[in-house]
Amino acid sequence: CTPQPIESAAPKARRSRQASVVWGPRTVTVGGDAPTRVQSMTNTDTVDAIGTAIQVKELAIAGSEMVRITVNTPEAAAQVPYIREQLDRMGIDVPLIGDFHYNGHRLLTDYPACAEALSKYRINPGNVGKGDKKDKQFGQMIDAAMRWNKPVRIGVNWGSLDQELLASLMDTNSQRATPWDAKQVMYEALITSAIESAKLAESMGMAGNQVILSCKVSGVQDLISVYRELARRCDNPLHLGLTEAGMGTKGTVASATALSILLQEGIGDTIRVSLTPQPGESRTQEVVIANEILQALGLRVFVPSVTACPGCGRTTSTTFQELAKQIDDYLRQQMPVWRNKYPGVETLKVAVMGCIVNGPGESKHADIGISLPGTGEAPAAPVFIDGEKALTLRGDNIAHEFHQLVETYIEK
Ligand code: SF4
Repeated sequence: CTPQPIESAAPKARRSRQASVVWGPRTVTVGGDAPTRVQSMTNTDTVDAIGTAIQVKELAIAGSEMVRITVNTPEAAAQVPYIREQLDRMGIDVPLIGDFHYNGHRLLTDYPACAEALSKYRINPGNVGKGDKKDKQFGQMIDAAMRWNKPVRIGVNWGSLDQELLASLMDTNSQRATPWDAKQVMYEALITSAIESAKLAESMGMAGNQVILSCKVSGVQDLISVYRELARRCDNPLHLGLTEAGMGTKGTVASATALSILLQEGIGDTIRVSLTPQPGESRTQEVVIANEILQALGLRVFVPSVTACPGCGRTTSTTFQELAKQIDDYLRQQMPVWRNKYPGVETLKVAVMGCIVNGPGESKHADIGISLPGTGEAPAAPVFIDGEKALTLRGDNIAHEFHQLVETYIEK
C-alpha cells in the first residue's frame, strides 16, 4: 500500500472544568488546561503530627503536588492544624487533602481549624452514612467545603461501594428483558454513585468545577472500562488511580499499564499510584513512579532522562551499567537544587551505551552521550555533544571523566 505520513501518537485532550486546590499563595489547578497533577498519601498515623509532617515533606520533595492524609478520629482532626503549621515552618507549601470516611461530617463540623487547614476534602459516598442520614451527612461535608471555600473529591471505591445504590440498580437490572451481567451493574453503580453525588453537591450550592470525581477499582481492564464511561458522562476533573495496586513490580506494572492507556486518551487530571511499600521501601517510590509514567508519555518533564542499553554479549564489563546508574542517581539527586539554578535542566537527555552497534546513534540523539567500547572494539569511548562527536575518552578513568563532562554541559 502507499505510505502515508504517520500520525503523531500524542495524548488526546479531554475538556474538563478546572478545580483550584489552594494553600496560602500556592494554587494547584486540577483539570482544564492544567498539566496532569501528581498526588500521594501518607501512611503515618495522623495523630503523630511530627511523623506525618516529615512524610508529607518527603513526598512533596519527591514531586507530589498534593498530599492526602487520613483524618479518621477527633484526635487526628485536632492534629491537622499543627501538621500544617509544621509544614509552613519548613517552607513546604504543598496542599493537604483530608481523607474522610464515616465521620467526616462530624469532624469537619466540630474541628473548624482542621477544616480550614486542609485544602481539599475527599468524600466517599459509599460510607458517608446510610438511609435517611446519608444525604444530611453528605450535605454537612459539602457545607464545610463551601464555608471554607475548598474543593472536594467525590471518591467512589469498588471496595466500599454504596450498597443501597447497588441493590437498587440490581433490582432495575433484574427487570430488564436482557439483564446486564453483574460486572456491568457494578460499573454502573460506581459511575452513578460519583455522578449523582456530584449533582447533589451542586444542588446544595457547590461550584461544579470544584468537584473532582474518581471511581477506583483494582483491576486494570475494569479501571479502563469505568473511567472511559465516567469521562464520557461528565466534565468534572478526574482523579485517576488503580486502587490497591499491590506491591513492587506487580503494583508498578499494573498502575503504569492502566494509567497510561487512560492518560493517552486524555482521561486523568490528577493521578495517584497506590503502591504497598515493601519492607524498607520509601513511601516516596509511588511519587517517583507517577512522575515516570507522566514523563514516559510526554505529559510532564520532571527529571533529565538517561538512555541506556540493556547490555548483551558485546558488553565488555559492567562499566557502562555502573556509569548509567551513577549518572541517573546523580541527576536525580541534584534536581532539587538544579530546578531553580538551571531552568529547563529537566529536559536534558543523556545516553550511556554499551558498544558501537547502537552507541553512536543513540548518543547523537541525546544532548550528551557516550558509547563505551564493546567486545573486540578498540578501548576508546567516543563522546557526542549536541549530536556531534566531541572527543574520545580512554583509559581507566572513563566513568569519572564522563561524569565531569555532563556536569560541565549542564553548567554551560
Ligand atoms: Fe549490546 Fe551494544 Fe546493543 Fe548495548 S548497544 S545492547 S552492548 S549490541
